[in-house]
Amino acid sequence: MNSVGPPKRSLPERLASGPVICAEGYLFELERRGYLQAGAYVPEVVLDHPEVVAQLHREFLRAGSEVIEAFTYYGHREKLRLIGKEDKLEPLQRNALEIAKSVASEAQGEAPLVAGNVCNTNVYQPGDRQTETQVLAMFEEQVGWACEAGVDFVIAETLSFHGEAELALKVIRDAGLTAVVTLAVHLEGKLRDDYTVEESCRRLEQAGAEVVGLNCTRGPRTLLPLVHRVRAAVSCHVAALPVPYRTTLEHPTFQSLQDEDCDCLPDDGAFPTALDPFTCNRYEMAEFAREAYGMGVRYLGVCCGAGPHHIRAIAEAMGRETEASRYSPDMSKHYALGSDPSLKQHNREFAEKL
Ligand SMILES: [Zn+2]
Repeated sequence: MNSVGPPKRSLPERLASGPVICAEGYLFELERRGYLQAGAYVPEVVLDHPEVVAQLHREFLRAGSEVIEAFTYYGHREKLRLIGKEDKLEPLQRNALEIAKSVASEAQGEAPLVAGNVCNTNVYQPGDRQTETQVLAMFEEQVGWACEAGVDFVIAETLSFHGEAELALKVIRDAGLTAVVTLAVHLEGKLRDDYTVEESCRRLEQAGAEVVGLNCTRGPRTLLPLVHRVRAAVSCHVAALPVPYRTTLEHPTFQSLQDEDCDCLPDDGAFPTALDPFTCNRYEMAEFAREAYGMGVRYLGVCCGAGPHHIRAIAEAMGRETEASRYSPDMSKHYALGSDPSLKQHNREFAEKL
């Protein structure tokens, strides 16, 4: 482990002294890079190409993430059953946790926090005891491995049933670990078992979640109004991790975005592999962070679609200088658009013709 850096503060300690930034979105980024298949979306890459996962962790850290979330997202029993590889469940989970810990140990300054992860099981059905038992067993095995790996806390994320979020929280709390619980809100603007986000988050806070909030599914514009309602409803810390896409009132989720300018999409929608034209730029993500922080949100990040440039913009908007800030834009030396006095005048004059 890191022995030279300053002592590592816990998540609650960090939240007490300022915002905490957490990069998510490994699934989309590794799909884009060609290491993961859209559709089933199973993170086999942690077994097939661990070096690629480690590198992405490093890139997000350099950009200002203070949390390395072990890439176990959708690496659960139901997903592995779907692709006929349940035998890979435990090695995949343990490998993901080891990769995260190993990258965390490389840190020069204060070591980043390592988080375990559980997410929507796609098995849960409200009121069905049998699926509840199945879901509990899935969460228990995953949290058990995370606990053995010595994670700093566990993120339960993209949960769209309040009931499933409660089960995840119970398992994390029973293991004696700190829990961050983030809900994914679809078109209806509430959870699939009819809870409002306020009511769900209030109950999760009462059940012992350290941080509650929303992640995934919605871009900044359609996530923040819901986050605002959560902030007003709870006393604990609140999380906001939108997808970096320009969702609108008409199309509030990234699954519902329609690209009218493109007639060559294999399926009707832009989700999930043709969202590029809707991507928020880094300045929009910085704006999101400032707005969320202004609301009193202290746990900030980006979900599916996040790139290191988004994370750096958020960190810098929070007044941080990251390792990657060394390469933050400085257009003064651009050959045509710059202002450096040594630039050639004929190129600067050409700027308007670029
Ligand atoms: Zn996501």
